[in-house]
Amino acid sequence: MNKLFFGTAGIPRSTLDRSTLNAIPHVKSLGLDSMELEFVHSVNISENLAAQVKQAKEKHGVELTAHAPYYINLNAQENEKVIASKQRIIKTAKISALCGAWSICFHPAYYLKQEKELVYQKVKRELKDIVSRLKDQSISIWVRPESTGKRTQFGDINEVIKLSQDVEQVLPCIDFAHLHARSNGKFNTSEEWTGVLDKIEQDLGRFALDNMHIHLSGINYSDKGELNHLNLLDSDLNFKELLRVWKDFKIKGIVVCESPNNEQDAILLKTFYNSQK
Ligand SMILES: [Zn+2]
Repeated sequence: MNKLFFGTAGIPRSTLDRSTLNAIPHVKSLGLDSMELEFVHSVNISENLAAQVKQAKEKHGVELTAHAPYYINLNAQENEKVIASKQRIIKTAKISALCGAWSICFHPAYYLKQEKELVYQKVKRELKDIVSRLKDQSISIWVRPESTGKRTQFGDINEVIKLSQDVEQVLPCIDFAHLHARSNGKFNTSEEWTGVLDKIEQDLGRFALDNMHIHLSGINYSDKGELNHLNLLDSDLNFKELLRVWKDFKIKGIVVCESPNNEQDAILLKTFYNSQK
């Protein structure tokens, strides 16, 4: 990517006649750069529609990412559930690639009270299988385990970075609100964020900082982690400081705003980011 793009998670709230095809030009007219296709309940775009979405994104110069369904647990005890989880990720990747999207993210698994290392090995095995199936079908798109917000969910910062080292075609999706919530309020200073970006650069190389898929919103949390998303100005997340750190590191990629007010905070982020020297 040649710069940092800012956009909405799903169709902007102010889109008239809500549809993905109407949302793409609307994102542009809001002064934003990108949109995440929210397949959170199901992959609800057909192959036919995907071709139209691709035309629209190219015509209007809007970047796309996608979020896979929530019903994914690569560590499920029942094999059918693992198979269904993998199918959901593969379908998300396939349709998103047809839409011309650049990257997909997903919440990989739950620990189910098992040892972290055991769960890591299981998730890695299943993810390798997913990527090899994508390669078989020549589906070329970034596949990104997301840093998750609850402590019962697999996906701390080290796990998503390690998966990216161990599996091809994989990079992390860094949700900065989740880092903050999962740690019950940590990851809220320049030092901590600098540590995160330094680690990404050390472990995955400069390429990873030039190709970031980021989620950001305000967030409400307890000692168990994420409770719900908030608008940035209603939260304790020190987002202006975070944007300064991004600017210092000159990171590039796509920032998806997941605030309840959606495009409003996306515009706030983009405006503040661009106003910084
Ligand atoms: Zn997510």
